[in-house]
Formats: sequence, structure tokens, C-alpha cells
Amino acid sequence: MFFTIPRTPEEQLELILRLNRQHSLIFSSPDAKLARRRHRAKHPTEIGAFKCMDGRIHIPLATNTPLGIIKPWRNLGGMFDLGWPYFARSVASWVNYAMDRGRQVLMLVTYHYSRGDVHRGCAGFGYDQEASIVGMSRLKKQMEHVFGVHHQVVYPILFGFETDLEAGVLHGENGEVVDLSTLQGVSKDDLMLMLIRLYPDMSLQIRKDLLRLVTGNIEHTAEVAASNRPLTETVHREWIIGVGRGFDWLHEPNTALLVGPFSPNLDEPVAKAAGIIRSNMLAGSIDDKSFVLLASAFYRDSTGIEPLLAREKALFLGDFSAATIRERYPDLADKMQVLSVTVDMQTRALEIVRT
Ligand SMILES: [Zn+2]
Repeated sequence: MFFTIPRTPEEQLELILRLNRQHSLIFSSPDAKLARRRHRAKHPTEIGAFKCMDGRIHIPLATNTPLGIIKPWRNLGGMFDLGWPYFARSVASWVNYAMDRGRQVLMLVTYHYSRGDVHRGCAGFGYDQEASIVGMSRLKKQMEHVFGVHHQVVYPILFGFETDLEAGVLHGENGEVVDLSTLQGVSKDDLMLMLIRLYPDMSLQIRKDLLRLVTGNIEHTAEVAASNRPLTETVHREWIIGVGRGFDWLHEPNTALLVGPFSPNLDEPVAKAAGIIRSNMLAGSIDDKSFVLLASAFYRDSTGIEPLLAREKALFLGDFSAATIRERYPDLADKMQVLSVTVDMQTRALEIVRT
């Protein structure tokens, strides 16, 4: 997929609003609702992905999964700690939500790297693949330790994402590592046997729903390989820093660095994202005059106080992040357009709180 990068501040804002309108229309359409409902009925496992802010990591796209099915948590490097109060509450309420509906839970604890060049790897972990595996394994253990009481119900796996081919990499409980892009032409039965080998104690339902992700990704990597896309599309070219939640409408790959509001030291991931935008400008992969800081908060119930709280959250996140960027990268201050929005999760439509 090639995506034109907007060149002026006006083009940037206009594109953000257009992408949201388009996505909201599609998301709210009867066809998309039906597709999600069908998908849910066939694949009832709740799937969550804990991943890096990096705009190249787009798991729904890379697994041919309808949007709105895989729940994302984003932070620098994909680093999280269940000791962070807001993060812990958010994950626990999601797991409870799944259980109330009688659904099992698959957690994709994600790290990323590039097979072609270490410097296309994860800036959050200093391009060190081993360090990111160690770091994310720690989060996986925390998840097991806390949610393992629901063994067979909640199942975290370590999931690598190789950005050149957008290939998933499974890390089995037996230590085996499988790059899904190498499995073209393997039958579904054999893939199922492989999953049994990798995750012997995984429930049948979760395994079936993981198999769907696996086959989706195998198809996707074949398409990426066949497209022979230029390497310029696999290097960073994000021009948006998204801080907050409710970004799944922004489904263009390599467009936004997304920082969830989870870290108690929120200034760190925000500054790191600003550093990446700055290098994108210096490298000439994006326009060097302007970028967008998009602060977002979502609500599910539009009738009570939730939208009002979301407004306050969006304003706070915008102010806080803008102040951090001005302090750490004064040369970016004049290039920053701050947009604070709320998102209605029933329609994914955004509303501007402040520009
Ligand atoms: Zn990363």
C-alpha cells in the first residue's frame, strides 16, 4: 500500500479529518457491523496486542482481521508494567469484560525487528532485538503470574513482528521460534499440529482463533513479498504523534507513532516519539516544516459523563505532551500542530475539542 505524505500543515489536518470520516463511515456501515459480528461468532476469543508505538506495526492489517477485533495497547517499545496503576486497571477490566461474556483471552505480547537491517528495528529498545525479547518476555511472565489463575482462559504468547515482510514470529512454550512468512503452502492441518506443538496447554478455542491469525498473516506476507515494495516504505516516515487512546481508525501504516497514556513517566515515550519525528524530518522521509500532535480520549457511552471526562483527558494529554516536546526539542516547537479530540467508540467518529 502506498500512501502519499501530506506536505503542508493544512494538508496534514485535512487528511487526519478525512481519514477519520472515511473510517467512521465504513466502521458504522451495516456491512462492517455484520462482518465484525460474523467474525466474533466464528472466532470468539478476545485478542489483545501489547505493542510498540511504532507506526509500522499494524496487526489487524498484517493478519487480515477486521478492524475493531484486536484490542491494542501501545507504548514505547511495547514496554509495559502491570504495576502501572492505569495500565493494570485497563487490562484487568478488559479480561473481566471477556469473562463476563464467556470468552477466552489471547494476549499477543509483541516485539518487533527488521530482517534486512537492525536500524529498521525497534528504536525503543535501542535496535537490540535480544533486549526487546527479554523485555517483552518479562511482561508475558507478569501476565501469566497475574492472570495465570485463569489458566486455559487467559493465554499470553510472545509474538515477534518482522516489519520488512510484516511477518508474525511465534515463540512456542517449548522454546521453538517460527517465522510465519516461511510457511507458505503449509496445510491448515499441519499448522494446527504446529500450534499444538508450540502451545501444548492452549485451549482448543484459543488455538483455533490463533490459527486464523496465523493463516491471515501467511497470506499477508505472501502479498507483501509479491508486491516488491521499495525499502523506503519500511523505514520510519510517521508525521503524527498520537497520545492517548481510540486510534484504531487511524489505520494507515507508518503514519502515526502512538503512545498510550499508561506509563507513569509519560514524558519519556512522548519525547522518544518526538525524537523519531525529528529524525524523520532530518532524513527527509517527511516534510520538515510541520507535524501533528494528536491527543485523543475515547468514550463508549455518549449519554453520561464519559464524553465530558474524555474532553478533559484529551485537553490534558495535549497540553502535557506539547509542553514535553517544547522542553525536550525546542526546535520542533514551531513545527507542531496540536489537535485534541474525543472519539465515540460506537462510530469511531472524532470530535475536535481544541486545535
Ligand atoms: Zn519499537
